[in-house]
Amino acid sequence: MLCLFCKEEIRDGAIKCKYCGSILTSIQTQTDPKIVYVNHNLKQKEGFIALPIISMIIGIICLLLLIEPEPWDQDLIGGLIFVSIVGLVIGIVSVSTQKRGRGMAISGIILTSIGFLFGLSQLVK
Ligand SMILES: [Zn+2]
Repeated sequence: MLCLFCKEEIRDGAIKCKYCGSILTSIQTQTDPKIVYVNHNLKQKEGFIALPIISMIIGIICLLLLIEPEPWDQDLIGGLIFVSIVGLVIGIVSVSTQKRGRGMAISGIILTSIGFLFGLSQLVK
């Protein structure tokens, strides 16, 4: 059979195209016996817009915590470090797995890094 995405000849019943890497999933329903192929690969490239948005929002929260005028206590420092690590991981995952929202994810990584480093510097004091 031919790959639906790159039109290369692939083994019948193959679940993954060896040329373009598309996952070919056949879904057979009772009402519609037609085989529908889903390109998971495309979906993965596009990605979820939620990841970079969450990362950036967490980065902004970190910045807001930084302008906190009260003296820093252990809870606030711990909270900042925890939140910034979460935002940093989400940002890195977003940048490394998808193109979508890359700018926002990078902003998130930068902001959460600042938050994380500031949190650490407070911890050392
Ligand atoms: Zn293909």
